[in-house]
Amino acid sequence: MLTHEELAIVHLVLNTDCNAWDLPKTTGSPGVCRFCYRERNRVHTDEATVRRVIDRVRAESEARRIVFTGGDPVMPYDNHLEPALQHAQAAGFETNLHTNGLLLADRYAGLRDHVTLYSLAVDGPDEQSADWFRGDGYFTTFRANTALLAADRRRLAFNTFTTAVSLAALPSLAEIITGLAARTPVEYWLISQYRPIGRANSRKADLYAYDREAFTEAVAHVRDLLSGTGIQVYDQPTRAAEDPYPFRVWVLADGTVTADLGSVAAPRNTVLGNLLTDGFEPLVRRAFASRSTNTSTATSSEKEVTTP
Ligand code: SF4
Repeated sequence: MLTHEELAIVHLVLNTDCNAWDLPKTTGSPGVCRFCYRERNRVHTDEATVRRVIDRVRAESEARRIVFTGGDPVMPYDNHLEPALQHAQAAGFETNLHTNGLLLADRYAGLRDHVTLYSLAVDGPDEQSADWFRGDGYFTTFRANTALLAADRRRLAFNTFTTAVSLAALPSLAEIITGLAARTPVEYWLISQYRPIGRANSRKADLYAYDREAFTEAVAHVRDLLSGTGIQVYDQPTRAAEDPYPFRVWVLADGTVTADLGSVAAPRNTVLGNLLTDGFEPLVRRAFASRSTNTSTATSSEKEVTTP
């Protein structure tokens, strides 16, 4: 059995595509989510398999939370999200729906009773800044989603990607988040800097990379602004190519288990095996072993982070 201390959170990937790709880019933007580093490994599964996958994770770990992520897990087709959430909840997991929210309203009725936490991506405090990152109309949808969720007293979290320019807008975004926290529980705010991982290239680095000190200072400032609110502020600063990446386990909905094992320069997560045939605990223990031969410096707070 993997203890809670060894593995508190598991990421479950039902699909790797994303509905954000349909949004038009705004004037002056490099394109929708150009910073995204999600792997594009396909997931072919069915509802019964997803249930078996969740059961294996439950039987072999004390993990408390499953993060439903992608791509985006809220898609305009049946990706088994609702039964997966329901099954995970019944198995005793907290469920974190990690989404851009573009199609959240469409599927909300079926999701609502089985989601512990909605973590929403937002990169700026207004249309101009937020839409620059994720596409035309993104911020309007974000506001509609937060209005819906706050009115329904749902638990929220936020993920923010930054550039050197957008850092100056973090205090205004902090104001929006504080305003929401007055109406509904807000658990955390994760703020990220560009990290050259996954599908990194020099064009992305030209667009998004900037000084780590500036990032750290800006995050410290908003952490001060949010002190006393109970909202945890996590940060993901940039890393050098030789730096280790925080250890995370990704379970695809067909049972494939992958993990962040190496440096940020590793082009892909390592595929460990399939938990339906190999078991979940043995695969994760294998990952622990290979990671400890590579590095041992990930911190527990870094294990909490989940997003591009
Ligand atoms: S950053 Fe998130 S919303 Fe954007 S393409 Fe990647 S998965 Fe989709």
